[in-house]
Amino acid sequence: MNPTASTSPALRESARRDEPGLIGQAVLRLMALETRVDAVHALSPRFRLVSLRSEALRRIAHAPGDKVQVRVAGMAFRTFTPFRLGEGDDSLALLGWLQGSAPAARWLGGVAPGDRCHVLGPRRSMDLAAIDRSTVFIGDETSLGLALALCGTPLGGLDTHFIFEVDDAAEVRSVLEAAGRGMLQHAWLVERRPGGDHLDEVEATLARYAGADSYRQYVLSGQARTIQRLQRGLKAAGAKPSQMLVKAYWAPGKVALD
Ligand SMILES: Cc1cc2nc3c(=O)[nH]c(=O)nc-3n(C[C@H](O)[C@H](O)[C@H](O)COP(=O)(O)OP(=O)(O)OC[C@H]3O[C@@H](n4cnc5c(N)ncnc54)[C@H](O)[C@@H]3O)c2cc1C
Repeated sequence: MNPTASTSPALRESARRDEPGLIGQAVLRLMALETRVDAVHALSPRFRLVSLRSEALRRIAHAPGDKVQVRVAGMAFRTFTPFRLGEGDDSLALLGWLQGSAPAARWLGGVAPGDRCHVLGPRRSMDLAAIDRSTVFIGDETSLGLALALCGTPLGGLDTHFIFEVDDAAEVRSVLEAAGRGMLQHAWLVERRPGGDHLDEVEATLARYAGADSYRQYVLSGQARTIQRLQRGLKAAGAKPSQMLVKAYWAPGKVALD
């Protein structure tokens, strides 16, 4: 990985102003796990790889596909998909996508090594460890962490076709190369277009998969509308609900969907 400078002083100052008061601190002590930010890598202008460390993480079961909720400002939490980087059981990593100036983006832009980071979870979300067959993985920028978690399962994402709906294919390609995990390097990156017709070819490809193989697994995450459309297409092509693991990660106009 090739880290670049990542932390904005203005965002750090605003994070300091956002610290919760006494009651908030008491609630956090009761409900959240306090971790330390171990490292922050700017993998690209809009992606941050954040590793969190805490002795308590050694005792907490974590399965690939779990979610965590991270305190990003005041008492506001946002959801991420943790994965192991492999350097020890007391750490978890997150791959965050900075979009706009909402709380998660501001946190990702200002977070630095040594910061305290309150976390709820890990909790179950998508059971990737149960996947035991060829898989088609569909997601977007917010799903790269989930894809890396899949690469950490015993099958390692080996027989997986990764498809990502993205704003900027060159940026996401560079992040996948930096993350350096097997089949992810061969991911199909489809750039968004306003009318949604960029999904026509994805839909047709999924229909071919579903027609050719009634055993294949599908993992869908990312934007709610994209997921609904592709799920409908898969069903129409004969895929059964039992073949699909589905989780909407965000929807336009909705705050902290989960
Ligand atoms: C189970 C789960 C796991 C997730 N894992 C990850 C992860 O590993 N990495 C990651 O980066 N994200 C992940 N997400 C998505 C992330 O939690 C949401 O995108 C979250 O809304 C971001 O918070 P925010 O403060 O930026 O925006 P919010 O304050 O929640 O929303 C503000 C506005 O931004 C819009 N918005 C939210 N997300 C996006 C987006 N991606 N693109 C465009 N507009 C958006 C909202 O619709 C809303 O209008 C996950 C979500 C879930 C449910």
